[in-house]
Amino acid sequence: MQSQSLNFTDENAMLAWTKQAAKSIGCGLVMHLNGDLGMGKTTLTRGFIQSMGHNGNVKSPTYTLVEPYELGNLRIFHFDLYRLADPEELEFMGARDYFASDSVCFIEWPEKGQGILPQADIEFEITQWEQGRKLEITALTEQGNSQLSHWSAIN
Ligand code: ADP
Ligand code: MG
Repeated sequence: MQSQSLNFTDENAMLAWTKQAAKSIGCGLVMHLNGDLGMGKTTLTRGFIQSMGHNGNVKSPTYTLVEPYELGNLRIFHFDLYRLADPEELEFMGARDYFASDSVCFIEWPEKGQGILPQADIEFEITQWEQGRKLEITALTEQGNSQLSHWSAIN
């Protein structure tokens, strides 16, 4: 499986990358975002969702646990499971239906949903790098692998 490591000097550099990366994003992808509080998981997700064509705000789903977006036939679900007390809550929310072939899912704090969440296709890990961030991207499935091939071609 492929992996890729990118360094961004600031938030704008990261957002410029999501603008390119969003062009090739495929349906049915499940992406996990790992990293400490304030590392930029929401910022990265916001960059993707807005680059995929959403014109409004992308607020952190800290209290709602999930925010849905509809872009034509495509559904996007942005999860922040930091406050999820029990993975079973995801069942009550009907979250299993969100993981479908016509949706793209971004999940912050995926470890909180262990046992209920499906396998990730892509895992992002964000860490501090100088004043900016290091983004490590790992493919965990064949679909993730082919997605990463597209992203590797971004200069
Ligand atoms: P998280 O969702 O991981 O808790 P947020 O995206 O809410 O983090 O907040 C990240 C903070 O770090 C914001 O203040 C944002 O401006 C800043 N930030 C995000 N990406 C970068 C980056 N690539 N380089 C430097 N600062 C960044
Ligand atoms: Mg966040």
